[in-house]
Formats: sequence, structure tokens, C-alpha cells
Amino acid sequence: MKADKIIFATGNADKMREIRMIMADLGLEIQSMKEAGIAVDIVEDGKTFEENAMIKARAIAQELRKRDEWAIVLADDSGLEIDYLNKEPGIYSARYMGEDTSYTVKNANLIQRLAGVPDEKRTARFVCVIAAVFPDDRECSARATIEGRIGYEERGANGFGYDPIFYLPDYGMYSAELAPEEKNRISHRGKALEEMKKVLKQAAEETL
Ligand code: IMP
Repeated sequence: MKADKIIFATGNADKMREIRMIMADLGLEIQSMKEAGIAVDIVEDGKTFEENAMIKARAIAQELRKRDEWAIVLADDSGLEIDYLNKEPGIYSARYMGEDTSYTVKNANLIQRLAGVPDEKRTARFVCVIAAVFPDDRECSARATIEGRIGYEERGANGFGYDPIFYLPDYGMYSAELAPEEKNRISHRGKALEEMKKVLKQAAEETL
């Protein structure tokens, strides 16, 4: 059984950029769903990040089987958990206030929902789960988080999504103020991908 590429189940260009940067040294071709010519409607109806990531990875893997193609399929599910809001928006982070609503509006709304809430109760984290389905049907996942606080205003021009309101006390700056390489090194997605990379290296020695 041979797999010489990874297909990442996302249409998000920002994520693909981060993933390519992190996985570059694996020596495997990394394609997005679009680049692999796969267009499937995936209903993310899981109750956890793990379930949703696996739903996406399995859907793509199934599609590849139909074509008799062999690749490692990776998918991620990620989001922002705000403790004061009972971990909202959580698995609904992308859909919060509607998929097409701008992050300027979403971020302003979250800051407003935390009006008057003191620093120590503004704790939050980004969560990322990467799921993998291998050509031999093996499955596994990796989870990582980055802890921070919801700020009082939007700051920074890097990153995407909720980065401008996610303050990192250990760094004294907002997530959107981090350089991309720095974010990859410490972020939920960066850490989960590094973890997954270890699994892939191991798998490469065994089966590729
Ligand atoms: P997913 O594409 O279903 O995993 O949804 C992830 C959503 O969580 C994104 O659309 C963002 O709203 C949010 N999110 C996940 N990771 C990040 C990040 O690194 N920065 C900012 N927002 C993020």
C-alpha cells in the first residue's frame, strides 16, 4: 500500500498556508480538497471537535476509495471556547452569528457580551483537533489548545477569525499581533499538527 500525498479536508486558504508551513519537511505532497479535485458536501453534525474532524476526514477518505486513490487524509476542527460564555462559540465558532457574518461583527459581539467582565473571568482557549484516516483504514487524532483571554478591543492585523480579540498573557500581545511563524509555533493548530506529524513520520517508516 502506498501513499505519497496528504489531502487536507479544508477549503480554508489560511489554514492551508499554516499546514503547508508546518508539514513542509515531511516530504509529502500536501493538497487541499480543491486541489485534489474533491467536492463533497460534509455535514458537520458531531458534538465534539474530535467527532467533527473525523467526519470530515472519513468523508474525503471514502471519496478517494471510490476513485481507487491512496492518500493520507487529514482534517481539522477548531474553535474558540470562552469560559464565561459556557465555552461558546466552541464547535460553532465558524457558524457563530452566521457563516457569512464578518469577523469584525462577530468579534465586536463577543467583546460586548463580555462587557464589565473582569480579566480573571475572561479566560478562553483555542482548541484544535486533527483527525487522520490512513489508506489502510487506521484512524487517529491529535488535540491541542492555547490558553488566553478575551481582550477589550481588536488588535493586530495577522492571523484570521478571532485572533484580533484573543489576548495571550504570556506573550503580552494579541494572537493577531504574532508573526505567522511565531503563531504556528505556539498555536493550537500548530501544536496539534506537530503532534500529528510525529504520527505520520512513524507511519511513513512502517507503511509508506
Ligand atoms: P472549522 O473550520 O470548522 O475548524 O472552524 C474553525 C473556526 O474557529 C474558524 O472559522 C474561526 O472562527 C475559529 N478559529 C479556529 N482557529 C482559529 C485561529 O487560529 N484564529 C482565529 N480563529 C480561529
